[in-house]
Amino acid sequence: MKSIVTFAEQRDGKLRRPSLEAVSEARRVADAMGGAQVEAVVIGAGSGALAAELGHYGADVVHVFDAAELAHYATEVWARALGQVIGEVKPAAVLIPFTAMGKDLAPRVAAATGAGLVSDCSALAVKDGKLEARRAVYSGKAFATVRWSGEPQMATLRANVFSLATPDTSRAAKTVARTVDAASRAKVTAVNAAAGGKLELTEAQTIVSGGRGMKGPEHFHLVEDLAAAFGAAVGASRAIVDAGWVDHHIQVGQTGKTVSPNLYIACGISGAIQHLAGMSSSRIIVAINKDGDAPIFKVANYGILGDAFEVMPKLTEAAKAYFAAKG
Ligand SMILES: Cc1cc2nc3c(=O)[nH]c(=O)nc-3n(C[C@H](O)[C@H](O)[C@H](O)COP(=O)(O)OP(=O)(O)OC[C@H]3O[C@@H](n4cnc5c(N)ncnc54)[C@H](O)[C@@H]3O)c2cc1C
Repeated sequence: MKSIVTFAEQRDGKLRRPSLEAVSEARRVADAMGGAQVEAVVIGAGSGALAAELGHYGADVVHVFDAAELAHYATEVWARALGQVIGEVKPAAVLIPFTAMGKDLAPRVAAATGAGLVSDCSALAVKDGKLEARRAVYSGKAFATVRWSGEPQMATLRANVFSLATPDTSRAAKTVARTVDAASRAKVTAVNAAAGGKLELTEAQTIVSGGRGMKGPEHFHLVEDLAAAFGAAVGASRAIVDAGWVDHHIQVGQTGKTVSPNLYIACGISGAIQHLAGMSSSRIIVAINKDGDAPIFKVANYGILGDAFEVMPKLTEAAKAYFAAKG
């Protein structure tokens, strides 16, 4: 029977949303291939507890590498573990989330297993029993449709683009306990997490981003206030990251993060091609800009032509009132 292997990334004992999207998509692909099996791989100390949830999202089998020495991610070890499963299962396809970890892991596993890798896919289809992927090229100016010539067909999936399956708690996956040699030339000695409680940009469903139109760091609270009213994550253009107003980890774009939220609100951002490269696959884009010719309006679903300093406080109040009334 054909199999689709999917890598399930976990952090602090929780499956990350892009992993659940990948297993949901693996289920859809497997069904479209005529009843292929979905085999998820989860690695980390305590990861055995996550197998049931992967089953709910569509995995038939979960390969669990659960050992105390797997407390911290190490490329070599994770690649060895995933490669071990791929070598045994010989899947038709391997789906990996396009997260920082997935970007690090996939090329190494592809090289080790001889898989063709198509990265940052935004859609998958099954044609004649084979995968076909769609991915943005030239910084999002065009889309390419790509097919593989051999197997396994390996793809990394852009976060927030592939829909989550409705979890079925009556579905149970078979668990296979596995071990891997945890020797690694590089070791994580400390993890310095960004300030706690902040929403991870790449997984956020709503993002409010600010650019040079905010005039200075002393006004950036307008972006943060609007984000708080929407329960959104905060993003930024590179111009204000380079100017030192905000930290690089919230930069959206070609040299920052790629995001695909349901709602992206760009405030005082011109919409340079390098910024669009990181956010143009957002479902709904709202732009607030005082220049009617700003390129951001070409990709925006809704444009607010006006001064951000007048529009944003009103929008913040309106959003607060709306969500308060909604309860
Ligand atoms: C190799 C390379 C990689 C890059 N990578 C990235 C990247 O990853 N991400 C990224 O963002 N950029 C990136 N850039 C930079 C990019 O080209 C732009 O310079 C940058 O995106 C501009 O940022 P901005 O829109 O905030 O500023 P600007 O282009 O200066 O635009 C400011 C906008 O604010 C508007 N505005 C001004 N005042 C107001 C007001 N009061 N109310 C409303 N609107 C107002 C203006 O009309 C203008 O449209 C990269 C560039 C290069 C060369």
